[in-house]
Amino acid sequence: MQLELTEHQRLTKDAARKFAAQHLAPFAAGWDKKEEFPAQALQKLGEAGFLAMLVPEDEGGTGAGAVAYALAIMELAEGCPATTVTMSVTNMVADVISRFGTPEQKQRYLPKFADGSFLCASFSLSEPGAGSDAAGLKARADQDGDDYVLNGEKAWVSHGEEASLYLIMAQVDQGGGKLKPTAFLVERGAKGLSVGRREEKMGLRASHTCGLVLDGLRVPKTAILGGEGNGLKVALTALDGGRIGVGAQAIGIARAALQASLKYAKDRQTFGKAIGEFQAIQWKLANMATELDAATLLVLRAAEMREKKQPCTKEAAMAKLFATDAAYRVCNEAVQIHGGYGYIGEFPVERHFRDVRVTQIYEGANEIQRIVIARAVLS
Ligand SMILES: Cc1cc2nc3c(=O)[nH]c(=O)nc-3n(C[C@H](O)[C@H](O)[C@H](O)COP(=O)(O)OP(=O)(O)OC[C@H]3O[C@@H](n4cnc5c(N)ncnc54)[C@H](O)[C@@H]3O)c2cc1C
Repeated sequence: MQLELTEHQRLTKDAARKFAAQHLAPFAAGWDKKEEFPAQALQKLGEAGFLAMLVPEDEGGTGAGAVAYALAIMELAEGCPATTVTMSVTNMVADVISRFGTPEQKQRYLPKFADGSFLCASFSLSEPGAGSDAAGLKARADQDGDDYVLNGEKAWVSHGEEASLYLIMAQVDQGGGKLKPTAFLVERGAKGLSVGRREEKMGLRASHTCGLVLDGLRVPKTAILGGEGNGLKVALTALDGGRIGVGAQAIGIARAALQASLKYAKDRQTFGKAIGEFQAIQWKLANMATELDAATLLVLRAAEMREKKQPCTKEAAMAKLFATDAAYRVCNEAVQIHGGYGYIGEFPVERHFRDVRVTQIYEGANEIQRIVIARAVLS
């Protein structure tokens, strides 16, 4: 593993840091409070090429690579993690179109991720009754001539209200009742696709999460991504990359919580001195900084392996598991360091604590990451 960043990776990281300071951090608390989707910031992110970082340049992307992408997410999530939910899911969809798409699909969609024509894209695998158990999908896609007709209910779709393109998984009967998940690319406004209820969430409130209703949604055969029956392969490939993104996002949130805690430890006085002078607080800060550095190394290792096209399912799961658990502990300690002020909206750590919690759940709950890792180390 190369520990030194390349010039390009360093420049991408710096550009993301600048973007976060200018366009995200000053507005994140207000967006959270009003549950306002950061459409303008996303538009700017798209125009700057941050939504097509995993797509090679000859396919219309920026070809930044997985390491630069992870570094960018860490920086941007420090400013506004809700924005990086949309950024990472959109990059994930673009990535699998690049990996599995037909030449026509690539030509039709990929340039739109890079030039800002697409605001964002959604990835719709989960259903009300199927989250961890992705093979248990109920949504159906029935062949009718050269078309497929989709019916069912999808759940937990990040920015499903705002997406320009949806990657939707539904079961196709491949004969004899043998159901195989298949991935379909569906454009915004398609007849038979409607947005369901928006969830009221604990954190990441500027990222809207909703259901999707598929009611006689007719799509041509050419909408299938990766071939009929290969939906799980497409989804799992996407999730390897997605887990690196969630690990990076958790690190960004926790870095913001650590920065706020360092400042507070210097400012807050008790018993005649700054609380940062007490060893109890110093040890918390030392643990927080160490855990975050360890998490960063695991995430960058997985990203580098993915960039080199090496199998990295185990490493991506380890990175997601460790980074999100560590980030949760860091945000929890940040609240503790702030005392009562950590529990109210006046200080940002209250929001960081709410935002970080879901990183242990989505993109595969951490119990599932442990199953993936255990399977790999036992084999
Ligand atoms: C804010 C938010 C955004 C999301 N965005 C998206 C999105 O854009 N697209 C999408 O497709 N999905 C999305 N999801 C869904 C998310 O991926 C699922 O919530 C997650 O995979 C867990 O599934 P579940 O909620 O059905 O929990 P369940 O699968 O019902 O699990 C419940 C609990 O049981 C544990 N568990 C389950 N099976 C096992 C097992 N075999 N062994 C041990 N423990 C187990 C789980 O780890 C968990 O703790 C989102 C979720 C949230 C909260």
